[in-house]
Amino acid sequence: MNAFRMRPVGRALSRIAGGLALAAVLVSCSSRGAAEPGEMPAAEGPGRPAEEPQGPPAVVGREDPEPRRWRKPPPEPVRLPAVPPVTGSPALRVQYPRSLERIAVRDSNFIFGTVGTGDAELRINGVRVPVEANGAFLAWLAVPTPNRDDRAEYILVASGPGGTETLRHRVRLPPEPFEGPPGAVWIDPASLPAEIERWLTPADPLEFSVRATPGISVSVSLGDATLALQEAGSGVYRGSLLIREILDRPCTAAREPAAGGEARDPAISCGPGRVDTLEARVVATDGRRQAVERRRYPLAVLDPEALPIVALVEKPDPVHGSSGVVPGRPTPYGPYRWLFPDGALGQADRRLGDRIRLRLSPDLETWVTADHVVAGAAAGVLEARVGWIEVEERSGGVTAVRIPVDRPVPAHVEEPEDRMLRLTLYGALGETERMAYGRSESTGAVELESLAWAQLPGRLYELTVRLVRPVWGYRLTYTKGRNGRSELLLELRKPPVVDAAAPLRGRRIAVDAGHPPVGSFGPTGFFEGDANLAIARRLAALLEEAGAEPILTRRDTLPLGLYERTGLAVRAGADLFVSIHNNALPDGIRPFGEEGTSTYYYHPHSRTLAQAVQTGLLASMGLQDLGMRWGSFAVARLRWMPSILAEGAFMMFPRQEAALKTREFQEAYARGVLWGIEEFLSGYAREEGSQEE
Ligand SMILES: [Zn+2]
Repeated sequence: MNAFRMRPVGRALSRIAGGLALAAVLVSCSSRGAAEPGEMPAAEGPGRPAEEPQGPPAVVGREDPEPRRWRKPPPEPVRLPAVPPVTGSPALRVQYPRSLERIAVRDSNFIFGTVGTGDAELRINGVRVPVEANGAFLAWLAVPTPNRDDRAEYILVASGPGGTETLRHRVRLPPEPFEGPPGAVWIDPASLPAEIERWLTPADPLEFSVRATPGISVSVSLGDATLALQEAGSGVYRGSLLIREILDRPCTAAREPAAGGEARDPAISCGPGRVDTLEARVVATDGRRQAVERRRYPLAVLDPEALPIVALVEKPDPVHGSSGVVPGRPTPYGPYRWLFPDGALGQADRRLGDRIRLRLSPDLETWVTADHVVAGAAAGVLEARVGWIEVEERSGGVTAVRIPVDRPVPAHVEEPEDRMLRLTLYGALGETERMAYGRSESTGAVELESLAWAQLPGRLYELTVRLVRPVWGYRLTYTKGRNGRSELLLELRKPPVVDAAAPLRGRRIAVDAGHPPVGSFGPTGFFEGDANLAIARRLAALLEEAGAEPILTRRDTLPLGLYERTGLAVRAGADLFVSIHNNALPDGIRPFGEEGTSTYYYHPHSRTLAQAVQTGLLASMGLQDLGMRWGSFAVARLRWMPSILAEGAFMMFPRQEAALKTREFQEAYARGVLWGIEEFLSGYAREEGSQEE
């Protein structure tokens, strides 16, 4: 029984033992970008990070495949078509940065747009900028000095036979770091930790950091306790204490009555259901003058013996649809590293604003967003018993590995080798006394070579699934099994039967024309979504000619959510998913030399497809090789089939934008992808022994 009761933090703090101070709290979260690395993928564009930030590969240490033996020679490259000339009077237009848009850098940035004519000379803030034959320009320039309110002005002057035009184009710059008046004592108000909700246990540190006048004394008070902060760099002051150091007794003290006595009064409220407020008062002084800042920090202190159990529920995204998984990150704002099945439970041990940390094992944590969490599922220790495993053949070439568990703990699948899946259940103990492979005469589905389970330290239950052929696709879901128990279902997808003589024949290929919503623009205003759609349509036509069945996820210019795209491919029974994009750079990167072709994959079983498509695109489009890349894009995270995302060219470079408008270059892009898909399929047929049934 949990006998501890809740009390307001403020009262508890007033009883803090003298001298010990609480520095409330933690790294500033306010400096973090609002962008969700995982949630808004395929959103490249100037001013935004190009698609999602990169992280380490999901799986390292896999052996590199043998050098590919191509079945067909790669397509011949097209020459980048000449830019069609445009003449006439200047008509200046800046495509990026947009008027009064806030850019991310203050030193140098790119600016692109059109002069409206190819025979004018362009100067931007006095610097001569080359203009293409169609009037498009892309320049890398020093950001103008801001005049007021962080606004800076580009002055564009175009002059030629058609006349002269001047355009004053204003943008906003990122705010400069706060500096107080010279000689004054000041505190940078934006440098204090954000007033976000925090859940912490008594053993967690409270860290406090603040910027103030260099070389003075800075302290923070909570209740009547005060912590002197140490200057850790010029004008940056830091201090830290453990929660339990600021409590006269930990909240756990009240959980059990003292021997023979009554339940003790808890020092501080415990549990995420009770959030109180810590009042912080920061004082900076040079002995004569002082500056003061106050903050209020919502705080719940968690009982480490009764951490709250939360349910992980995928919140349907009104823009992008749902994917059936809840992503976990190694750090609050880090990249996705785990894809937990919707409906799992998790043991929360920390919260920072809209990020909640789950304890997967004693030494392993993951962060999820609060909108994926339903609190109050239970308390205690989250632990599951894993029962007898059964393999079942299902229709449509699906093999289901059924794993009964008494509680739906977090689970995650990795691909350590081509023919292996490794499923980990966190907080699970094995009571697996049987593993049934199913009827031996069952055919047509995935050939399982072996199943093996292991109990690892930290209550990790690991199931290793070895396959006869390389992984094609899989998914992991929680369902209700027999007797109403939870059942973790690992569904494995049978690879398609590829005709080695005509690898594309009969294959269903999902062709995804990236964007809208969002998407980038070229200097003359050509929209990436339109370029992608034209290429996707051409690719679909080529696939059809080759005997494949193309499935276009987007057929018109209307927006389509990312998970609507992948969901459509799954429902249509597609064998492969290829997303067509054209790239852009984020602010502050000198663009020249950075343009070219790249292809992304996420799951290891998609890597070979990415490699083949990258090779095809390089051959047919003839642009610079930026290399195959691992990247966490929503569409590439599709596990049910090999899925990739191609960035064939760049919208922001005048010559590439002009080329992307031509049928010739769209055809080259489509042929490059087509060749890659065909090579991937024929390689699979040849090397992996796919045969007719
Ligand atoms: Zn894109």
